[in-house]
Amino acid sequence: MAHALIVGGGIAGDTLALLLERDGWEVTVAEIAPAPRTGGQTVDLRGDSRTVLEEAGLLEQALRCLIPQRGAAWIKADERRRATMPVEAFGGQGLVSDEELLRTDLARIIHEAAGAGVTHRFDETVEELDDVEDGVAVRFRSGTRQKFDLVVGADGTHSRVRALRFGPEANFRTSLGLAHALFTLTETPGTPPLDGWFLIHNAPGRRAITARPGHPGEQEIGFTFAADTLPHRHDREAQFALLASTFAGVGWRAAEFLAAAKESNDFAMDTYDQVRVPAWRDGRVVLLGDSAWCASPLSGLGTALALRGAADAAAAFRSARVLDDLDRLPAAWDTFETAMRTKTDSAQQLPPGRVASMAPSSALGIRVNAWAMRAIQSRVMRPIVARALASSEHRREPADSPAAKVDSTR
Ligand SMILES: Cc1cc2nc3c(=O)[nH]c(=O)nc-3n(C[C@H](O)[C@H](O)[C@H](O)COP(=O)(O)OP(=O)(O)OC[C@H]3O[C@@H](n4cnc5c(N)ncnc54)[C@H](O)[C@@H]3O)c2cc1C
Repeated sequence: MAHALIVGGGIAGDTLALLLERDGWEVTVAEIAPAPRTGGQTVDLRGDSRTVLEEAGLLEQALRCLIPQRGAAWIKADERRRATMPVEAFGGQGLVSDEELLRTDLARIIHEAAGAGVTHRFDETVEELDDVEDGVAVRFRSGTRQKFDLVVGADGTHSRVRALRFGPEANFRTSLGLAHALFTLTETPGTPPLDGWFLIHNAPGRRAITARPGHPGEQEIGFTFAADTLPHRHDREAQFALLASTFAGVGWRAAEFLAAAKESNDFAMDTYDQVRVPAWRDGRVVLLGDSAWCASPLSGLGTALALRGAADAAAAFRSARVLDDLDRLPAAWDTFETAMRTKTDSAQQLPPGRVASMAPSSALGIRVNAWAMRAIQSRVMRPIVARALASSEHRREPADSPAAKVDSTR
């Protein structure tokens, strides 16, 4: 039986593991975290995400985890609203949809769906990947060595597999000039309620603080700010110091959030990046998900692309019967990569002004952004914007749309 090693048990990695196992592969997943990763904000359940989950038989579970939301609101420091965009805006194609669940829940659902044919090795990563006859010899960080028929780098934007086989990160990563810090806040009796609203408070200097609904009793908090480089990802003290100095004097709930960040157990800080790798395969080693094509959180499509990529890669292997003959891998992968690149290239074309709109640089820019959010919902502009969103290749299909039921193996 062919044995695949998937490095990174995130959305792309665990989805591919599940689908390959169902096709008869033996699968090992090496995940650097000590347990399935939690954290992250909400994930949109329309479009490709919905289709792939439905085909995998996981949609019902995902739908049971939807977070009740009412919309997005751009607020002043005293919480007076500059602009709002309810979930109904543009037929459900607006900034916030009423079909979103937390990334934590989606990752858990996919992870738990794996059967006995998938072995997860936590606290584990790869140190060496050497081509040998009919496979790849892997040396793990734990010291063990094992040969695999296929190695998949699904280990995210800062992929180690990519660094080992494709070149240094600097060759592939483009910073969008922003960074974010995300964490879950546990509500106390004094915590102001969100009432279902995703609240966005912008401050001059390209700074934004956001709070959105999470699990009952929790709020998902985000800080966004201008940065190309950050303190080391394990240096929490330096990260908190950077946030404190960057958001000093911003007002609203900044001080409360800075204190809560230190108490949370899922705090994470990273830059907003895009990843472009000229070829996603080197011999029997391939890249999938953010390691290959990260479009950045600003695209809103990271999860949909990860799910679609995993489903289409598995389908390409299946239709080429790679499991029976690994020599068919290059052709199958080329078919997959050619088709997938049209989606990832398109997702990386962020709408004009997307970065500036997330974090305007001046007080005037903040007012103009709020005005623009109101203007696009005006009676005149609404149908035009709705048409543009509906014709987008990555539009979010309404739940009952026939297009939401398209076969992903197409
Ligand atoms: C905890 C978390 C929270 C996130 N929150 C958001 C969010 O709020 N908004 C948003 O837009 N995107 C978020 N993302 C990114 C989003 O999940 C991805 O853009 C998208 O789902 C693509 O999935 P992926 O599987 O390629 O990458 P990811 O989902 O990032 O998964 C990569 C996995 O690889 C693991 N890994 C990393 N390095 C190694 C290594 N060297 N060896 C082994 N394993 C490794 C990671 O721990 C992770 O489990 C988050 C990712 C994570 C891990």
